[in-house]
Amino acid sequence: MEKICQHDILTQVEKPARYAGNEWNIVMKDHAQMDVTFALAFPDVYEVGMSFLGYKILYHIINKRDTYYAERAFAPWVDMEQKIRNHNQVLTSTETKTPIKDFDFVSFTLQYEMSYTNILNMLDLSDLPLYAKDRTEEHPLVLAGGPCAFNPEPIADFFDLFVVGEGEEAVIDIADVYKEIKAEQKSTGKQISREETLLRLAKIPGVYVPRFYDVEYKDDGRVASITPNHPSIPAKVEKRVLRDLDATEYPEDLVVPFLNVVHDRVMLEIQRGCTRGCRFCQAGMVYRPVRERKKENLRKIARTLVDKTGYDEISLTSLASNDYSQIQELIHELLDEFKEEKIGISLPSLRADKFSVKLAEELQQMRKSGLTFAPEAGSQRLRDVINKGVNEEHLIDAVTSAFQSGYKQVKLYFMLGLPTETDEDIVGIAELAEKVVEAYRSVNKGKTRGLKVTVSTSLFVPKPHTPFQWVGQLSKNELQRRRSVLQNAIKSKAITYNWHDPNVSFLEGAVSRGDRRLSKAIYQAWKNGCKFDSWTEQFRNREWLMAYQEVGIDPEWYAFRNFAYDEILPWEHISSGVSKKYLEIEYERALVGKTIEDCRTANCTGCGVCQSLGVDVVVWKGEEVQ
Ligand code: SF4
Repeated sequence: MEKICQHDILTQVEKPARYAGNEWNIVMKDHAQMDVTFALAFPDVYEVGMSFLGYKILYHIINKRDTYYAERAFAPWVDMEQKIRNHNQVLTSTETKTPIKDFDFVSFTLQYEMSYTNILNMLDLSDLPLYAKDRTEEHPLVLAGGPCAFNPEPIADFFDLFVVGEGEEAVIDIADVYKEIKAEQKSTGKQISREETLLRLAKIPGVYVPRFYDVEYKDDGRVASITPNHPSIPAKVEKRVLRDLDATEYPEDLVVPFLNVVHDRVMLEIQRGCTRGCRFCQAGMVYRPVRERKKENLRKIARTLVDKTGYDEISLTSLASNDYSQIQELIHELLDEFKEEKIGISLPSLRADKFSVKLAEELQQMRKSGLTFAPEAGSQRLRDVINKGVNEEHLIDAVTSAFQSGYKQVKLYFMLGLPTETDEDIVGIAELAEKVVEAYRSVNKGKTRGLKVTVSTSLFVPKPHTPFQWVGQLSKNELQRRRSVLQNAIKSKAITYNWHDPNVSFLEGAVSRGDRRLSKAIYQAWKNGCKFDSWTEQFRNREWLMAYQEVGIDPEWYAFRNFAYDEILPWEHISSGVSKKYLEIEYERALVGKTIEDCRTANCTGCGVCQSLGVDVVVWKGEEVQ
């Protein structure tokens, strides 16, 4: 196979650095000497893929093993795709420009439902059959992991296997089993079939092989049953979870990109999981329980990463970084350690309280760039429904102290269309933003000069494995109406309002709670030319809707319908460890606005993950586990 990304092609595309490879810290190995190879495929462009820590962790974990090799592959942007097709080439890896189809595994990271058409496009560009059933012994095994693997059904037909939950240990288990299979083939001279290979892989905890499950449907379209069709296959696939995050390897040789990526800095994952219990948040449910890394260990990792990458900023990442039990001490120690080298420390998410603002100030002594808060809902009633755990006083106190220390820009994130939302709640968003303006005035002698308050609303999309998984989305017309209610309620010129396209949210909603039948629609949408659906300039709403029509599937049935408690959910056979009963109780609590506390700091609220998976909340207070 002639290799692509040669000079003549690279000079003809936008951002050649996306495809060039040779970045600092990349790993080059000889394929001929390897036992198992992985093409780590990211279904979006380089800049997006290179910003995901989980993707980098897998690259590191696999490449640390002498005879396992992982290379990267990203979705080529439309100009590059055209070149590949025009030159009759195939998609290749970034490091050694090896065709994707020559790897043992093609492993996709699933972050967002709207990247599914890109997966099909990448398989097609790799000259691989799109449907798992059409792939034979000569093809690689196509696998996927990441948050969307918690409802793998809409894309189940395209994949040979999925990893549910945390992938660090599972990916090595998969490689080990595959290596044994290869060795056995070599020693016996007998070919082990793809079916038998998958059967052996399916015995690894957390591995889901869709072909070993049959799904039946009722006459009304709902799922009737999901049953394993082989005696050795479990009825439910339990997620993988790391018991001791602190003892898990951290990627030290981070690849340093040659072009600006979304998060171009050291990402220091200080903890995993979040137990605050926001009822719309899938990550908060599926990555339970909270497990912190030790402060001392983080210091060491930070030092190694800075030395090995040359980055001048360390971002303390996690779902809610200032919940880390020793956040203040950690920040002080890091500031102290890196002050000579002028390395900045940043926190990507802030809680709406004074403490957070104080931290932000310490971190940004020079640059007062702006603060972001996510109250999510405009009224206390609705914030209680979603269990957000912040109140207006926290927010106003926080912004007041920010304005007092010179900040002029505040971003506020909300959701429209949350369960039980009324127009009063929506107007509450505008009122809250106006109060932020008012807080600025009171600090700045009645003036608003220089102030910029940005209100952004995303649209509520119910996600599997959350207390809101049963709730239908609102129609596009209703969402547009609610958006106008908010727009009309905003009076101050200091407030800018941004909103999300309801067409995208609707399609996302249909896929997120979808079942196996949706693969037809996704395939058809791709056939109709859809790709890069999360990129505004590429999104083709008409082609998506046509696709649904062409395959005779009603997306509204998936997006707008309320599921019943006793209904078999399409993801019923995938377990996050959090019990369905708990989610149901949580939904009932939501409807009456009853809040619950964070089990990291208060009592266990009974989600069941610690008991069912034998894992504990790990909060280091000093060196003691709390
Ligand atoms: S089982 Fe209890 S302690 Fe463990 S994550 Fe769930 S609520 Fe928290």
